[in-house]
Amino acid sequence: MRTSDITNRFTESVIREMTRVANAHGAVNLSQGFPDWPAPQVIKEAAAKAILSDVNQYAITFGAKPLREAIAELYLKRYEMQVNPETDLCVCCGATEAIISALLATTNRGDEVVIFTPFYENYGPDCWISGAVPRFVPLRLTKVNGTIRWMFDPDELRRAFNDKTRAIIVNSPQNPTGHVFDEHELKVIADLCIQHDALAITDEIYEFITYDGHRHIPIATLPGMADRTITISGLSKTWSVTGWRMGYSVAPRDITLGIRKVHDFLTVGAAAPLMEAGAVALRMPDSYYAEMQARYAARRTFALDMLRASGFDPVVPEGAYYIMADFSALRRSADEDDTAFAMRLVKEIGVATVPGSSFFWEKGPDNPGRSFVRFAFCKQQATLDAAAARLKALHA
Ligand code: PLP
Repeated sequence: MRTSDITNRFTESVIREMTRVANAHGAVNLSQGFPDWPAPQVIKEAAAKAILSDVNQYAITFGAKPLREAIAELYLKRYEMQVNPETDLCVCCGATEAIISALLATTNRGDEVVIFTPFYENYGPDCWISGAVPRFVPLRLTKVNGTIRWMFDPDELRRAFNDKTRAIIVNSPQNPTGHVFDEHELKVIADLCIQHDALAITDEIYEFITYDGHRHIPIATLPGMADRTITISGLSKTWSVTGWRMGYSVAPRDITLGIRKVHDFLTVGAAAPLMEAGAVALRMPDSYYAEMQARYAARRTFALDMLRASGFDPVVPEGAYYIMADFSALRRSADEDDTAFAMRLVKEIGVATVPGSSFFWEKGPDNPGRSFVRFAFCKQQATLDAAAARLKALHA
């Protein structure tokens, strides 16, 4: 093989592959998590204006000043977090680049990084590329006060932390489960980070999309955590601009210096005109966030009803815009696993999902995701209506 040992350790993204499969079969694409509605007019106009005013050359590598200032303002307003735009911020090409830059900047070969499973599939390759070793801790479906939630066992998490632990990745609201880590869970994680002198690398890309009173809490706001947290978020999801590739990290000055160095040599910088528009996005009025939340809440209700009516057993998400749904009742045969089911769904029914196993690390029959597929409901009502009509054929 002419590719490196590290590259040979992982496959291409299953999520992004499912979009290609969906396109090839003309399926309704409920696989990849991109909204299929227009981005806000005001930010599109700001982007166009920036290009026409010739903001077309490299910006400062770690992010254009107006965007950094807008990010700092937002953190202060939303979470009372003090972020110095000159020293604590690095704007990257998406949260994706911020996460791998954070790992490259802070982990040494052989350091362990704790990751909850199921997990957003980038985190494994991000660790391997950085030379770090992922250490997986499961979230399990657990009944809490009558509600089914994806929970970790605090003792199991404690056992995962050791002398080699450098960091834990906390993704809340979580993809694919929609779990929103509450204050109690975050406190358990924070205590372990402090006890083991570990970092929390957070992925808060869905921070503004929560339901049923669940509240997003950045772990950096917990006592003792500001100095050991790399908070990562971005514009992709909240402003429906996944193609703009705009994300950022917030971290103490010394760590930010490391992230900025890695980022500079990886990509130099994010797109200059889009950073100008990003500053406009982050300053949109509160009503924007409220309308977006309401739109997602309505889609979630529709998608849950659609899945239940089609024979799935969906787990109700607390945030983000995905539903993990158990398809056991729809299995054609006992050996139909999630990949076979997802392929049948694309080819025969015309709806694309992501096989649940791709969010877990276990291989073969031990993979807990084998009876799940993940649906993304960040789609126009017409798209969801088309999916609902096609899913009826599951019973034909
Ligand atoms: N983090 C999570 C948990 C995601 O689900 C996604 C996209 O689906 C990303 C990061 C990618 O973010 P970005 O578009 O900012 O790179």
